[in-house]
Formats: sequence, C-alpha cells, structure tokens
Amino acid sequence: MYPDCHTHTEISPDSAASLSAMIRQAEKLAMPAYAVTDHIELCRYYPQGYYQSEPRNEEDFFDYAARWEKSMQQNQLAKGLTDLILINGIELGEPNADFGLAESLYQDQRLDFVIASLHELPEKLDFYFLDYQQENSKQLLKEYFQILLEISCHSCFDVLGHITYPLRYITGDAGIPVDLADYRDMIAECFRNVIAKGKGIELNTSGYRQKYQKPFPDADLLKLYHDMGGKILTLGSDAHKPEDVGGGIMQGAELAKACGFTEICYFLRHQPQWIKL
Ligand SMILES: [Zn+2]
Ligand SMILES: [Zn+2]
Repeated sequence: MYPDCHTHTEISPDSAASLSAMIRQAEKLAMPAYAVTDHIELCRYYPQGYYQSEPRNEEDFFDYAARWEKSMQQNQLAKGLTDLILINGIELGEPNADFGLAESLYQDQRLDFVIASLHELPEKLDFYFLDYQQENSKQLLKEYFQILLEISCHSCFDVLGHITYPLRYITGDAGIPVDLADYRDMIAECFRNVIAKGKGIELNTSGYRQKYQKPFPDADLLKLYHDMGGKILTLGSDAHKPEDVGGGIMQGAELAKACGFTEICYFLRHQPQWIKL
C-alpha cells in the first residue's frame, strides 16, 4: 500500500470522522505514511464580521482560522500516538483569496504538507452547489483554469490538488461532456510553473468511487505532466470517512506507472520523500 496524502476529519465541515478512526484504518491497510489534510478555505478564513457578508447556505462556514489551529494541534498530538508516519497537512482552498495569508500559513513550523485547491470561483458557490443546466460550463472552466494558473505562479503549496475538480460535478454528476483540449495550453502552463518551482500535483483518486469513474486528473493530463518533466506526484483518496481511506490508491499507482512515473512521494516539512512504484 502507498501513502494516502489527502484525507479529512471532523475538523472539515463536510466530514464527521474522528482522526483516531481514520488513523486506525490507515494502520489496518499497513500504510507507510498517512496525511491528514483538513479544509482551510481562505475565502472564509476570518470570522464572519470581517467579510460583512452572510453565509450563503448552511455549509458556508466562516472562521477557518479557528479550524487551522485545531487541526495543527490535533495532528501534532496524533504524531506521537501512532507508529505510521503521520503527515500534518492541510487542503488550502482558494489561496487566490489572499496570497499573502497563504504564504504565511505555509511557513507554519508545524506543517508538513499543503495541497492547494480551487473549489469555488470568486462570487460563485463551490462547484458542488452549481446548477449546470443554468451555468455556462465552458466559461466556468475557462475561469477555473485561469485562476489555477495564477495559483501555480505562487509558492504557498507543495502540490496542486485535484486539478480537474469541476469535472466531478459537470461531467460526473450533471453528465455534460467536456473537451479538455480547450484548456490544454493553460494546464500545460500550470505544469510548467509547478515543475520550475520544484512543486508538484496530486493524483486524486476519489473519482474512481464517484460517478466520474476516473481520477483527477485522468491519464491524458497525467501523461502530459510526466512528459513535460513532472516528477513530484502524490496520491490522495480524498477520504472523508474511514472506509474510504486508501480508496483507489493502488489503482492510481498503477496509472502513474503506466504514464511513465517510477516513483511517487509524500511530504515531510515540505520536502518530498520518495517511494518506488
Ligand atoms: Zn478538495
Ligand atoms: Zn479534500
């Protein structure tokens, strides 16, 4: 079993799992290392009054600053309670909301690993909530990849998370086909940036157990990343409950191998630790 580098606990608003239950599952699977990466959404980092805006729905939590502190403490404490290598990580959503803050969080001495993710566009809800019969998917994707490109120019992360995230909903759930060729130049530019900075991307295997049935990104883009010289690749199930820990990781490793990778990695103190495939 390879390390699962993307999982959530009850510190994330969309998970009810205790850290101990998640770790137990990782131990059961004999994982060499395991990352906890709870959500920190930078567009709602401070308490509500700071933004002078109302929550848009009941999942629209503010004050991720408090969750940050809770997560750092929880993960630090857990490191001493397990034999597996516990990676203190975070899934940093919307770093584009405040790149200065993102860079300073990245410097937190307790932190091992940062996944940068884009779950929502400015002035829009999370892609999860959008109605794709009403939305212009092409326009959304264009804006999504433009912002991802902007994120890739910064240094506040170790890997870019699930880079084709909107397809989970646009193609997977709403059944609308998307031709990624329209965005290939922007995606290649993203890859060029992360490779030049010594950063990487993740292969997010959650899609294997969802309607999309493929990882994020799928083989075509993974191969492009590899062929452009991309080496740093982490595998992540995006589990929000114990039974999903390690989900699709072996399948993802096989895909990485087929795309030409000979190693994958996990991160400690922002340094890649290599594992042969
Ligand atoms: Zn995510
Ligand atoms: Zn996640």
